[in-house]
Amino acid sequence: MSTPKILILGAGYGGLLTTLKLQKKLNYNEAEITLVNKHNYHYITTWLHEPAAGTASADHARVNLDQIIDMNKVNFVKGTVQSIQPEEQTVTLESGEVLSYDYLVIGLGSEPETFGIQGLKEHAFSIRSINAVRQIREHIEYMFAKYKNEPERTDYLTFVVGGAGFTGIEFCGELADRVPELCQEFDVDPELVKIYCIEAAPTALPGFDPELVNYAMDVLSRKGIEFKIGTPIKECTENGVLLANGEEIKSKTVVWAAGVRGNSIVEKSGFEVMRGRVKVDEYLRAPGYENVFVVGDCALIFNAEGRPYPPTAQIAVQEGECLGDNLAALIRGEVMQPFVPALQGTLASLGKGEGIGMVGSKKLFGSTAALMKKASDLRYLWKIGGVGLAMKKVRL
Ligand code: FAD
Ligand code: NAD
Repeated sequence: MSTPKILILGAGYGGLLTTLKLQKKLNYNEAEITLVNKHNYHYITTWLHEPAAGTASADHARVNLDQIIDMNKVNFVKGTVQSIQPEEQTVTLESGEVLSYDYLVIGLGSEPETFGIQGLKEHAFSIRSINAVRQIREHIEYMFAKYKNEPERTDYLTFVVGGAGFTGIEFCGELADRVPELCQEFDVDPELVKIYCIEAAPTALPGFDPELVNYAMDVLSRKGIEFKIGTPIKECTENGVLLANGEEIKSKTVVWAAGVRGNSIVEKSGFEVMRGRVKVDEYLRAPGYENVFVVGDCALIFNAEGRPYPPTAQIAVQEGECLGDNLAALIRGEVMQPFVPALQGTLASLGKGEGIGMVGSKKLFGSTAALMKKASDLRYLWKIGGVGLAMKKVRL
């Protein structure tokens, strides 16, 4: 029998952890493991709000794949997936190259959910990759520079964040920290800078603990964020946003952080999806395909009450690890174990030294939450790259 081919698409949390588990568990001759990713680096998505605001460099959130993957055991292909043909067991890359597989792992992450709102695709930014956040940072700096040459254009100094979910809240915290630095660098009166965080639901961080939500809003309001809650964004234009209440906010910088959907390649390849995510079985298999597994933001799993788990790095990591074990078991003719998420809690930053968190039933505020978040980052870096990577990357 020929060596089974395992093809992994995407080196994000889900795809990377599957790969790392497989490279650890399997011997060289047991399977041919191929990992395809757009870039030759993994990025720490959970940090991207920092380089987006400019409080950290984009390079800091990058980890070169050859630093963490044994390239003798894993065949790495730097390429962009264009489509998947599950009936033929092949994947086509934008380069035209066609890769075949016996087992496929889809870990292509998410895309911004625009809910069909007009103008967002054309005029809004989103925090989703190293290249995207570099552009946001440069654009913000450019707005300050432009204002100095056109001082009547205060809209250059107005920043709109769409959505007060965790991404919007974390970005607001960083942007508020960056503004004083930018004002000093560009000689701008801080009073002229406006940051609006606009949320459709009746509260920020819908579904999260109300005491922690209030704390977050207090901290961010003190830092200068103006919240508009219960006010959906209805349209985005090149001049700003139009709200459902008829108000218009003039701005040249709209950052859309109002939710995600699974990578559209999955739907375009014919898989059944809900908001771009495949409802997988207990072994993370796509319906109808025994040999196609889905992890991370492309996968949809439900809790005991029938509610979908939110797409998080925490779950993507656990799925990747479980799938790595299961694929090794499959190859060896052993039994797979069902995936059971073990949620450890939620930790979110509100800028330097500030945060909120819920770990078990314990609420965490301020510097304690911020410190716990650093500890959780450290644990992840250690997991993927050992103590060396953890020491190199973590910022206390
Ligand atoms: P990703 O990590 O997004 O990785 C997808 C990979 O696929 C990338 O390497 C990408 O380059 C590659 N790829 C995409 N398309 C193609 C293609 N066509 N061809 C080849 N490669 C491709 N979750 C938490 O649990 N805790 C947090 O604190 C947290 N903070 C966050 C902060 C921010 C600012 C954001 C935006 C998200 C945060 N999340 C957090 C959510 C978390 O980042 C995602 O749930 C997680 O990244 C999903 O992992 P994934 O493996 O599905 O995809
Ligand atoms: P989200 O879906 O969690 O939040 C989006 C927010 O945008 C919601 O509150 C929603 O009501 C709002 N919204 C939707 N349409 C709107 C409109 N038209 N106008 C204004 N507001 C609108 O999305 P997210 O914050 O990008 O998070 C995506 C996933 O990543 C989630 O699962 C989240 O838990 C996870 N995440 C976790 C962390 C963390 O744990 N620290 C940080 C970031 C993201």
